[in-house]
Amino acid sequence: MTTKPTPDPISLRRLGPSHLSPARTPIYAALLRAIDDNPDRVPCINPPSPGLDWLDPRQRIQDAAARLCRRCPALEQCAAFYEPYPAAPGVVYGTTERQRTKGITTTKAER
Ligand code: SF4
Repeated sequence: MTTKPTPDPISLRRLGPSHLSPARTPIYAALLRAIDDNPDRVPCINPPSPGLDWLDPRQRIQDAAARLCRRCPALEQCAAFYEPYPAAPGVVYGTTERQRTKGITTTKAER
């Protein structure tokens, strides 16, 4: 018997269920499995401080979240899922909205 991965509340808040189309379901399922393998180490779901929200629009908060995000065990799967959605709100796969929409690369200070 296979168990269903835990729903990912962050992705649903970002994109809504309509973006989880059948064609993309395997990619999303891989992300959910990666999250389920290490839920305690996925910082967007278990942030180290309650004020740190991956969907916060403030740049300084996004910079802090992105630094933690880059050490997430689901980083690779998250990138595979979110790369087609550069305008997704907040931080995903270690990048801020500004980096994805303006093509700004990570600076040493942001790492
Ligand atoms: S890579 Fe970042 S946004 Fe993606 S699941 Fe991990 S912590 Fe969340």
